[in-house]
Amino acid sequence: MRTPPRWLLPAAAAALAAAFSLSNGFWRQNNALYDAVIEHWDYRPDPSLVLVAIDDRSLQALGQWPWPRATHARLLDRLTQAGATKVALDLVFSEPDLDAPENDTQLAAALHRNGKTILPITTSNDDGEMPQELLPVPEIASAAAQLAHTDIEIDADGVSRGIYLRAGLGNAHWPALGAALAGLSPPLPGLAEAQDAAAMPYRWFRDDFVAVRYAGPPASMPQISYVDVLDGKVASESLRERRVIVGITAAGLGQRFLTPMSHENWMNGAEYQANVTAMLLGGHALTPLSRLQQTVASALLALLATLGMGYPAHRKLWAWLALPAALAVVTVASLALLLGANLWFAPAACLFAVTLVWACWLSLRVARWRRQAHLDGLTRLANRHSFELAFNRELAAAQRTGKPLTLIVIDIDHFKQCNDTLGHHAGDQALVLVAETVMRHARRPHDVAARFGGDEFAMILPDTSAADSRRVAAALLADIRQLSLPGPEGPVRITATLGVHSAIARPHTRNRDFFEQADAALYRAKAAGRDGYACSDDPQDFAAGAGAS
Ligand code: GH3
Ligand code: MG
Repeated sequence: MRTPPRWLLPAAAAALAAAFSLSNGFWRQNNALYDAVIEHWDYRPDPSLVLVAIDDRSLQALGQWPWPRATHARLLDRLTQAGATKVALDLVFSEPDLDAPENDTQLAAALHRNGKTILPITTSNDDGEMPQELLPVPEIASAAAQLAHTDIEIDADGVSRGIYLRAGLGNAHWPALGAALAGLSPPLPGLAEAQDAAAMPYRWFRDDFVAVRYAGPPASMPQISYVDVLDGKVASESLRERRVIVGITAAGLGQRFLTPMSHENWMNGAEYQANVTAMLLGGHALTPLSRLQQTVASALLALLATLGMGYPAHRKLWAWLALPAALAVVTVASLALLLGANLWFAPAACLFAVTLVWACWLSLRVARWRRQAHLDGLTRLANRHSFELAFNRELAAAQRTGKPLTLIVIDIDHFKQCNDTLGHHAGDQALVLVAETVMRHARRPHDVAARFGGDEFAMILPDTSAADSRRVAAALLADIRQLSLPGPEGPVRITATLGVHSAIARPHTRNRDFFEQADAALYRAKAAGRDGYACSDDPQDFAAGAGAS
């Protein structure tokens, strides 16, 4: 079988990587790789961030949830007095307080006094349902400095890894709460989504997708109790010029999310948004490659990683090292992009394609090594080992059938001289020429021709009598005599001498008997003047090649 061309390996790897990448079939593996990195890549959140937590202690002190909105108004006034830079009040006010409308008025007034408060809108964009945007009641909404969405992406495995920094109905007009608290001026980082030119008013639009780089596992944001702020137990300095996010952390209240950092611990929404703020303030937002970029990068990296796979073809160690080397190229590229450029290239499709191509290449290689192990490297005839195996097989067959078996050994005449006068390279040429000639005379399916070593060849001719083997020997000699090598003074002829042993194998006959008999005949023929053959069945016999032809 022909070896596939060298370029086929990288080309196949690139095509497979692109196809796997497009199919997105490796999202689980990609997520696992992503999580493994992100989990150990924490950082110190911006010192201006603080979480005012509606925790279990606050609930015990202030009573059953929900609290009157006047309480939030008082908290907000505390934050205003302390000089907080910005407040994200991550609580839902989408229904009016029908029992005590003055509470809404007090909260609206406190929001006015603060002037820098962000309030969340709630959204529902479940499949099959008409998406909705639920704003705070108008009195409260109009008093807020900004409204923001709290829509968090949850992956198919239930883990939250990313967020759209902008989203909204008909148009991605609301910033994410964490992004609003960071207060970055556009353009925001992240992967731009294809937006419909004719935006539909009832479709939920999202834009600027980022993978969240978490500052740490749940409960690693600096946090103070709501009740302590409300009761004035927190020094103003701890709140001055701070970005404050007020949210529910108490167990059993509010939505919670699984993150790559959290394992079994869930993260509450406020802390999630605080992580978004910390990430944006620190310039840590991670942007995944777009589908097109991902596909092209997968193909290019697979190509690059497998370029060296076929070289050097004969090294067995490299055949094994080629895979770890290729996988390392892809992994290092992915890590370098993530750690160095905050870009997430999902490597699983590429890693899998490279592994698959390597496995195919290795099996072809192993098959080739197997074939080569039975061949003589110079002449491509069977080598001595496979010749002996074949001889044992044919001897057993001859013992079963009772048919004659012939072994011919062939040795080039004065080959040493040929080497010495014409050079080793010419000697090799002579070996190849003789090998081709010997091969041509092994005509029947079970005939075997081999290079025995040095300038010695051999043939097995099953079911061949002594008379037939003489004819083969004479014809072979005649053909060898036609061979020549170019010499300084004209062509140098090549001749060989043959020893032939034909016998009906008996049950006790060993392969050694055949080889010894054929060798003895060869020895006699050499002694009788070369360029001829001798047969073991007639110790006097020597047929000179020139005479026989
Ligand atoms: P004779 O007629 O008695 O066989 O004489 P000879 O010179 O051929 O003697 P012999 O068979 O002992 O010499 C074999 C020579 O073959 C010796 C060695 O240098 C040469 N030889 C063995 N293997 C190779 C090879 O792979 N390539 C070349 N060029 N020469 C080889
Ligand atoms: Mg010789």
